[in-house]
Amino acid sequence: MKNKKKYIQDNPWHSALKQLENVAKIIKLSESELEYLRHPRRELTVSVPVKMDDGNLRVFTGYRVQHNDIRGPYKGGIRFHPEVTIDEVRALAMWMTWKSAVVNIPYGGAKGGVVCDPDKLTIRELERITRRFTNEISIIIGPSKDVPAPDVNTNAQIMGWIMDTYSMNHEFAIPGVVTGKPISLGGSLGRREATGRGVTFTCMNILKKLNKDIKGLNVVIQGFGNVGSVAAQLLYDLGAKIIAVSDVKGGIYNSNGLNIPKLLEYASKNRYVEDFPQSEKISNKQLLTLKCDILIPAALENQITTENADKIKAKIIVEGANGPTTPEADEILNSKNIIVMPDILANAGGVVVSYFEWVQGNQEYFWTEEEVNTKLKQIMDSAFEYVCHKKDKHKVDFRRAAYIVAVSRVAEAMKHRGIYP
Ligand code: GLU
Repeated sequence: MKNKKKYIQDNPWHSALKQLENVAKIIKLSESELEYLRHPRRELTVSVPVKMDDGNLRVFTGYRVQHNDIRGPYKGGIRFHPEVTIDEVRALAMWMTWKSAVVNIPYGGAKGGVVCDPDKLTIRELERITRRFTNEISIIIGPSKDVPAPDVNTNAQIMGWIMDTYSMNHEFAIPGVVTGKPISLGGSLGRREATGRGVTFTCMNILKKLNKDIKGLNVVIQGFGNVGSVAAQLLYDLGAKIIAVSDVKGGIYNSNGLNIPKLLEYASKNRYVEDFPQSEKISNKQLLTLKCDILIPAALENQITTENADKIKAKIIVEGANGPTTPEADEILNSKNIIVMPDILANAGGVVVSYFEWVQGNQEYFWTEEEVNTKLKQIMDSAFEYVCHKKDKHKVDFRRAAYIVAVSRVAEAMKHRGIYP
């Protein structure tokens, strides 16, 4: 392609562009279509001045990137993390466009982030950061414009503050401005567990395709947050052996399988998984290269790179995080016949139930948890089937197949809308 850039492996935005280009050739996207999709539609950088509890003022930096809204309102989470960068948020926004498209829900893609370390903030400081950031981005968000949700280090309470701030500025309650809200504010049952549940459905779908039973399979999970911990519990309940898990402080290992219900209790008391009885300490790095049937990276980007891809011994990788594998590492994994279930499909459960929350809120008619989970399964299963169909047709890996589905849907919608004016 024209203006071919030199991509840097650990820059997520470069990875996202490379993944798009990899599929553009296969679906014969025109140079103009590709050029359009390479550019986020809007990027907002804001300063977030906050009075800290000690009386001092600090100014945090926040971003909201809106990649594409051709198929519907922008959608995507907000993360609070000390290493947030504009390029990371750009990549995450583009991945949201593909994620919504691959599961065929009527949304575009966006993402937000605030550069801060929630571990070093009090709850009151966290609330003030959230409210001021919401105020600064409120010019571009809204229930039919751009709907944020939780992501790394953000949760239902933070969504509650976003909803309140936005509503106060508009003088009436507007619950549809965010998803992942507390149930008392119109949140959906099953939303908290949705991403981990979707990851579990993806594991079951790929195992079924390979004619394998989950019972007794060894599973390794990096990250024990909202995604990793729920996937651990559900897979444990299905009979898998979770032999290792980790969090920011490091990992724990037991070749006979960890007792996940006990671990969940332990982690909720001690905050971290370290020193859990009947486990050995291992590093996050060691955890990724453990011999296992399924590896679930459910933490951050750039975990599987050219540095460690040839040492990965998992048979299947199911991406709970966004962007855990670089495109360069993908090629190595492919050459080793390791199956990778890509993030945009595997972790789409969260945004699917966000969509359900938005639909329920708009109709002011709420579903039971069973209905939510059943509908989530239907969407995850049919997206998986359609991706498999494209995989067989084009003889490509799962990531390219998922991108074929997603990018083609967006490109087709783009054709029908045309370019304004
Ligand atoms: N942050 C989640 C993701 O990366 C959920 C986004 C949403 O629900 O809008 O998919």
